Amino acid sequence: MIRATTFAGKSVAVFGLAASGNATVHALLDGGAHVAAWDDSEAGRAAAAKAGIPLVDLASADWSRFSSLVLAPGVPLTHPEPHWTVRKAKAAGLEIIGDIEIFSRERAAQCPDAPFIAITGTNGKSTTTALVAHILRHAGFHVQMGGNIGRAVLTLEPPARETFHVVEMSSFQIDLTPSLRPSIGVLLNVTPDHIDRHGTMENYAAIKERLVRGSIVACVGIDDDYSRAILKRRIAQGAACAFSVERKLAPGYSLDGDTLVCANRDGLAVKLASLRGIGALRGAHNAQNALAAVAAVRECLNLYGRSSEIDWQGAVASFPGLAHRCEEIGRRGKVLFINDSKATNAESTEKALASFPRDVHWILGGKPKDGGIAALAPYFKGIARAYLIGEASDAFAQTLTLGHVPFVRSGTLEKALAQAAQDASESTASEPVVLLSPACASYDQFKNFEVRGDAFRALVAALPGIALKDVS
Ligand code: ADP
Repeated sequence: MIRATTFAGKSVAVFGLAASGNATVHALLDGGAHVAAWDDSEAGRAAAAKAGIPLVDLASADWSRFSSLVLAPGVPLTHPEPHWTVRKAKAAGLEIIGDIEIFSRERAAQCPDAPFIAITGTNGKSTTTALVAHILRHAGFHVQMGGNIGRAVLTLEPPARETFHVVEMSSFQIDLTPSLRPSIGVLLNVTPDHIDRHGTMENYAAIKERLVRGSIVACVGIDDDYSRAILKRRIAQGAACAFSVERKLAPGYSLDGDTLVCANRDGLAVKLASLRGIGALRGAHNAQNALAAVAAVRECLNLYGRSSEIDWQGAVASFPGLAHRCEEIGRRGKVLFINDSKATNAESTEKALASFPRDVHWILGGKPKDGGIAALAPYFKGIARAYLIGEASDAFAQTLTLGHVPFVRSGTLEKALAQAAQDASESTASEPVVLLSPACASYDQFKNFEVRGDAFRALVAALPGIALKDVS
């Protein structure tokens, strides 16, 4: 737990009392601040009260006594419209910040040389963050990982010279962190997303750029136009390195076949690790994540003069991957079972289908999103059969019919898995794949994508003769 000593004696309003909000309250109280905490949901307030959090109805509070408003990242700061607490804070002239801003101030005050790697991008943040942490741990370093993944940042150990903080940041979190100055700032990619929450694409890209601008060394993926422009501007301001899956870079991090390489200005390249056969990092999107991760670790160790010998191959090959993202569950004979429940839209499912180009027994459906699965037509030739579940079945059946994809209306995940496993076991292909990649939200049949993925895992685990992947 980090104590927010930089707020000692101040009076702070905290809105949004889920995991990060509760940790914020405790960090502020431990640091000697006065806290007025509130949440719009009655259940949230009740849980907070149980945890000993001092509740104050911020709707009727005197805002002139507060120095800051700490907002949970899910609460709208600007779009579609500012939350009522934001309007009150602005009217009272208060700063509006998030929990990672408190972490940043604490680091600046206590240990500005503490290694701090911050990671953002439209896609691949969690995978890259987990891989950075894994590589560092594999090399024997002490790592604290959190932010938008796993634990709230203020529940981690305090910044220290021997501790590497690896923090995933969404654009909402960057927006609430004005003093963000990471040792290494990683930007993976910038593509349209969450525009409803940021107004315009330009505003969204500008928020992502702030993480790069504040960092000592910036690592930027340059496979999209926005990120390329961001790197260009950054190079004029300070240390930066680029990574790309699409072109060879010198200097920079790129691919030589399926090998991650780092080249200097003269084109002299060091081979770091091959991705061949690494199940947790299949596909070009994961090659981008892996390049980002090796770049971040290498640049961070260089920055702090800790250039120890890293077993890059051993580190990358032992990465277990993250649950629900093209997660290998197990094999039965030659059939491979993959859980990609996190794919709640066609764009994500496209990554899975690109990673498994043939003999796919594809389980999809749920609560449909705009646009459906028409954009996936180029991958239809690799589908042996599709198994439809949930509300999207009618719409998806139409698209599959047009695309000449054999399909069955399974209705439930349980039935779909039974049918797909049976069909795959009768396939003559060398490695048939049973893939849950729904291209839909889960809410019609499951609480969330994690519950859906866990249900799939349990169904696969119950198949007779299954060999589950060892994740220990
Ligand atoms: P995030 O944390 O940014 O949501 P994750 O690492 O959790 O990203 O990956 C979620 C999904 O996004 C993956 O299942 C995959 O479909 C897609 N994805 C992952 N990495 C990338 C990438 N580098 N580029 C594009 N899409 C990606």
